[in-house]
Amino acid sequence: AKKMGRGVTSFYEVEMDEKIKTAIRMEHDLRHAIDRNELKLFFQPIVDIRTEEIYGAETLLRWHHSSGKMISPADFIPVAEESKLIHQIGRWVIKEACRKIGEWSEKGRLPIRYVSINLSSKQLAHGSFFDETMAAIRDSGIDPKCIKFEITESVLMDESEQTQKIISRFNREGIGFLIDDFGTGYSSLSYLKRFKFESIKIDKSFIHDILSDEDDVALVRAILDIAKQFDYRVIAEGVESEAQRKKLEEMDRNMFYQGYLFSKPLDADRFAKMLKGET
Ligand code: C2E
Ligand code: CA
Ligand code: CA
Ligand code: CA
Repeated sequence: AKKMGRGVTSFYEVEMDEKIKTAIRMEHDLRHAIDRNELKLFFQPIVDIRTEEIYGAETLLRWHHSSGKMISPADFIPVAEESKLIHQIGRWVIKEACRKIGEWSEKGRLPIRYVSINLSSKQLAHGSFFDETMAAIRDSGIDPKCIKFEITESVLMDESEQTQKIISRFNREGIGFLIDDFGTGYSSLSYLKRFKFESIKIDKSFIHDILSDEDDVALVRAILDIAKQFDYRVIAEGVESEAQRKKLEEMDRNMFYQGYLFSKPLDADRFAKMLKGET
């Protein structure tokens, strides 16, 4: 988009214009998505790296747009965060996850340890988040210990005092936190001292080339060492092949993993069947 005559729109401008239009349209549609029942929760098992027993599951949001398209959370969550819709969507996710946990529990017991829910930094920073969330969990009648929250390192860097308070309040209710995408955010690890976590999730970008890239092997080893020091469980994300699983098992047999090798994210019915051992 260098010197162009007046009235000539550069490719760059056209592209930006389209992006803004798309975002505005998406925000408009997203506003109605909840009422129209277009949002769905999918669940992806988190399994023991050795036995492949299901240990927990991560909740992943899906949007079936009325046009028939499936819109990725990677595309619409940022739009939701920009527009404050994230609070409404986040509340729906928590309520719906609690409802599913209730359905899958027998005599008040979930057959797996927990279901984790992704939180955006905007949600955690919202003044009424703790009270609203606890009210929703109590209303659902489930055991709060069945829920864990996933947050990224960036969440821990800003507003740390407020964040620290809220995390401890949840911890006192039995709700643990997982650090998502570990190693991709900030270089400072000082937050590890200030918060109590349950698990570290190794980002899939470190796992992808683990069989061929010695640097990734070194990074994963370093993360495993940190986790050991702080007594955190470790979950490797994005494990797609048996060879990757084996390599990770060799590095630490107490690890857990999540990835297409065991299962893609499943809709609630298919996940329930998996829990019952029907698939
Ligand atoms: P994330 O939390 O890092 O989630 C893991 C992503 O990795 C998911 O993408 C999942 O489908 C994908 N994945 C799992 N196993 C594999 C694998 O073996 N290979 C590969 N290539 N990918 C794998 P997804 O479902 O598209 O979600 C994208 C992101 O959207 C999530 O990244 C999370 O940051 C965000 N997100 C999803 N649901 C929610 C939600 O309810 N609330 C918020 N705030 N964010 C959400
Ligand atoms: Ca996550
Ligand atoms: Ca992740
Ligand atoms: Ca990620």
